[in-house]
Parts: sequence; structure tokens; C-alpha cells
Amino acid sequence: MNEFNIYSYDKYIVSFSGGKDSTACFLYLLDQGIPKDRIELWHQDIDGRESVFFDWEVTPDYCRKFAEAFGVQIYFQWKEGGFKREMLRENSLTAPICFELPDNTIQKVGGTRGNPSTRLKFPQSSPDLKVRWCSAYLKIDVCSSAIRNQERFNNIRTLVLSGERGEESPQRAKYNILEPDRSDLRNSKTRPRYVDRHRPIRDWKEEQVWEIIERYRVRAHPCYYMGWGRCSCKFCIFGNKNQFASAAFISPELTEEIIEFEKVFGCTMKRTTDLRTLIDSGTPYQHITQQLKELSASYDYNLPVILPDGEEWILPSGAYGEMCGPS
Ligand code: SF4
Repeated sequence: MNEFNIYSYDKYIVSFSGGKDSTACFLYLLDQGIPKDRIELWHQDIDGRESVFFDWEVTPDYCRKFAEAFGVQIYFQWKEGGFKREMLRENSLTAPICFELPDNTIQKVGGTRGNPSTRLKFPQSSPDLKVRWCSAYLKIDVCSSAIRNQERFNNIRTLVLSGERGEESPQRAKYNILEPDRSDLRNSKTRPRYVDRHRPIRDWKEEQVWEIIERYRVRAHPCYYMGWGRCSCKFCIFGNKNQFASAAFISPELTEEIIEFEKVFGCTMKRTTDLRTLIDSGTPYQHITQQLKELSASYDYNLPVILPDGEEWILPSGAYGEMCGPS
């Protein structure tokens, strides 16, 4: 690979979950002086456009308001029916992938080929993406498919940035900081598509992440102020007892639905315990106020993402806390 020059790309896509690490990736680009009109935030919506099941209700709107606050473009991508439809797949094909286009229309691809198969179980908390199917099916494939199926990425150089950090897991510590993205097609004679994947904060410590967020005066996703150390799905399969007890406290009805699915499937999400037992053994985080609880369960994020002058930036209670999330 030639020497890396961050300024040599036409387009910068930040894989943006709304969490602290993808926020840091975006702010890092601003620090480098990359023009905002060449940056796009891409958010893969775990639950699709149907009713929320596994993720935070507020996350899509937090991401939208974040983009608005910084004056950058945001595009959403999702698998039709989201997490729930994929989980309930029974002798059927995986659903089509949908993504927003610059002309405000939505394109739909896939979902017509392959072999029918059955899941009827939660993803298993494993680094192996075959059994932890949520990351592969709802994020990774969705993102690369949206690049592959948009001609606007042909004949230009695109850099996709994502916020994995080595501190989070030994697997992530081994990820390359730069490599061709899985959507790359640079050697095509007819329609070359040059796409690199960049993980600029792989070696950052959590302190550096909060430092850049503070410097840009960003109000983080509400989950951090309630005690979450990572902004993954509300019911992330990697959550520990306290995280699940907190999610159950915030969303009791969805929790009951998820517990019921464990019974229907005859297969628990965790290998060693069922969710009811796990939740009963945990303690909800102490910083879950009524206001934060309502904000996190709202479809409308109604606070300024960039703190107004005079408002003090406060380190969220979840910072440097429990690090349970995808490995
Ligand atoms: S955050 Fe957790 S549950 Fe959500 S897609 Fe990632 S690994 Fe799966």
C-alpha cells in the first residue's frame, strides 16, 4: 500500500453510531482540516424503519441532530425489518437492504437470492460473526452494500472511517489502522471503486476520546449520562447484569418481550443464564433520572448537541465505566 495521505481522498464516510468513538473519529477529521462538504456520516439503523425493538429509540434522531449541529450530511442505511425480522427468519431469505441517496430517495437492494434459512434465536455473544450475526447482517453488510450499489463512489477515492479501539478488546487491538475496505474494487478495469478503511483511533485511550469530545463541546448520547460506558444497542447481547437491569428499568415492556422470545426459542441470549435471572442479579445504574429515561426513549432528541456558551461540559457518569459491548 502506498504511503497514507489523509488528504488524498474525495469523500470521507464516518461510520457513525452516535457513540463516543465514532464521534471522536468525526472530530478527528475536523481536527485534520478535512472540509465538511466532503464528509458524510453514515448510520446503520439496527431496527430498520419499523418499530424499535433492540436499540435506543433516540439514537437515529440524536445522530440526525448531531449532523445538523455540525453542518454535515447524514445518510441512514438499514435492513428491512431490522433486528427483529432477521431474528425471526424461518425458512426464508434475509431481508433487502435499504439506504438513503443524496436525492432524498431510498434505494433497496438484495433479498431475492441465496438459500432460505432459519434463525429463531438471538445472536450469540461471541467474537465469531457467524453466530454474532447482528454485526455482520445489520451493520457491516448494510454499509458495504450501500457503497457498492451507488455509482457515485466509482472513479473516486473514498475513505471509510470507523471507531474501533484496541482498548476495547484484544480482537480490536489487532485490526489494521488502514486497509482496503470490503467494498473496494480498485483493480476493476471498467468501473474502479477505490475505498480504504481507516481506524484512526485504534490506539487511542478512552481519555483521548473524551478529551476531543469536551474540546468540541459535544453533549454525548444520553446513555452515557445514565451510566453506560459504551453506546451500543440498548439490549446489546454483550451487556452485563447491571446493564441489562438498567435497560429493564428504562424499558420494562420491551424487556418482557425479549424475555418471552428466549422462552419461545428455547435458547437464551447468554450461554450461562437466562435474561430474567441476569436482570434480577443486577443493579440499575444510579444516574438514571426521569428526564434521561424519557429522553433516551424519545424519537425526538431535543437538546443542543453542541453546548451553548455558558453551559458547562460535564463528563458523563458512564465514562471510564463498565466496558461491555461488541468485541
Ligand atoms: S451493539 Fe451489540 S446487539 Fe447491537 S449489533 Fe452490535 S453486538 Fe449486536
